[in-house]
Amino acid sequence: MSQPTVSRPAQSGIPVLHDMDVIVMGGGPGGVGAAIGAARNGAKTLLIERYGFLGGMATAGHVNPWMPNHHDGKPLDTGVFQDWCRRIEELGGMKLPARHFCPETAKLAAEQLCLEASVQLLYHAALDGPLMDGQRIDCVLALGKSGLSAHRAKVFVDATGDADLAARAGCPFEFGREQDGAVQPMTSNFDLANVDVARIPDRKIIQEKYEKAKAEGRIRCPRENVLYFKTVEDDRIHFNTTRIVGANGTDTLSFSAAEVEGRRQIAQFIAFLRAEIAGFENARLHSMGAQIGVRETRRIRGHAYLTRADYERAAKYPDGICRVTYPIDIHNPAGTGTEITHLPKGEWYEIPYGCLVPQRCENLLVGGRPISVDHAVHSSMRVMPPACTIGQACGAAAALCARDGLAPAKLDGRIVKRLLIEQGVALIEAPDGAAPAGGTERKDRRAEVLSA
Ligand SMILES: Cc1cc2nc3c(=O)[nH]c(=O)nc-3n(C[C@H](O)[C@H](O)[C@H](O)COP(=O)(O)OP(=O)(O)OC[C@H]3O[C@@H](n4cnc5c(N)ncnc54)[C@H](O)[C@@H]3O)c2cc1C
Repeated sequence: MSQPTVSRPAQSGIPVLHDMDVIVMGGGPGGVGAAIGAARNGAKTLLIERYGFLGGMATAGHVNPWMPNHHDGKPLDTGVFQDWCRRIEELGGMKLPARHFCPETAKLAAEQLCLEASVQLLYHAALDGPLMDGQRIDCVLALGKSGLSAHRAKVFVDATGDADLAARAGCPFEFGREQDGAVQPMTSNFDLANVDVARIPDRKIIQEKYEKAKAEGRIRCPRENVLYFKTVEDDRIHFNTTRIVGANGTDTLSFSAAEVEGRRQIAQFIAFLRAEIAGFENARLHSMGAQIGVRETRRIRGHAYLTRADYERAAKYPDGICRVTYPIDIHNPAGTGTEITHLPKGEWYEIPYGCLVPQRCENLLVGGRPISVDHAVHSSMRVMPPACTIGQACGAAAALCARDGLAPAKLDGRIVKRLLIEQGVALIEAPDGAAPAGGTERKDRRAEVLSA
């Protein structure tokens, strides 16, 4: 039976609330990086966010800790991301160099940094869609409490994590892994408080009990182990261990159903931990995300494209705007297992600027996780520190394009790279004879299986 549909009359008289140099859609790590990156480079910048706070997965998704993106023991994300961490620390929400942080403080810190950079913020406004003028976005329509409003800019940055704006602007994208379009599973993260951490047994003992509980039907979760982390409080443990397979974060019904399944699994985990694992006898649910964690949906096709083969050869580019050492980390889209594949020791790969520039739209950049890379590379670059740096690169590029009346595709990515270096990002100027800009169109795929 085909889906019943309705139509609505075309709407006129939508108020235009902003006329900006740069609009960033979405305020996660990518959007925070982009908005601050644009504003610090002189662009009149607006950030639009559907929730009433910033941070994306780091706050709304209750994702913790920052995964390491280090080289030689030193962090690579030394731009906006480092400023964010330092501000969280100043506000008492983390102790550097530890990587776990207080999500509530992360909200405060991100907002303070945006305001200090003169970023304007529009909260509680979800993207409805762009109004196009040929292949240019004239303005975006956002749905808020007073209905639709329009927001105009010279250049836009899609930092929705799902490439919502790019998709609605008609840009081509990929979805999921190459063989079947399946995406990484979702996870509902949660924290338990009042844990006697000193009494938590060895992970091997937890594993045995977990497997028994699964075999006896007391836990229904396809994940292979119990993944947990310490937090900023001594008696609180963070869990990234539920697994919701087959859900689609860009499908209204599927996204909603995933929330229900995530909380069903959380309830089972709490019961199991309290009943069977030492130290958790008196634990109580401390917090869950405002939303389920979505690892993967769309990835745009841009002017460059990185593949697993580029990852394996630790590809470098003259216009590499982000260095990444975090491994390929694919939670099995079909169920149990996680693939972790490290780079050769001491190596990193770079993301060329063209991966941020979508095809078929003349004034759009994409920041954060849905850039132009394959399923395997996405599983590596998606973690929050590089997502923020990629966002910062988009913001810097958007500011230059707005200033000079340039399309992002016409901007030389080496200029963006140089600007990022001047502004403190740990990039390296390309040596003579480096690989040409632009990534590759080669397709190489393969995955075995093993964790963010
Ligand atoms: C379960 C899980 C565990 C993870 N574990 C780790 C980890 O331990 N460490 C780590 O570093 N990384 C981890 N990651 C990865 C990381 O959290 C994300 O890849 C990263 O946050 C991506 O940043 P982003 O800004 O691109 O997207 P997001 O963080 O998703 O931010 C997107 C923002 O856009 C807003 N938005 C979306 N759509 C719209 C719309 N239509 N209109 C208006 N606003 C919109 C959202 O509300 C959000 O604020 C994990 C991810 C998941 C899901």
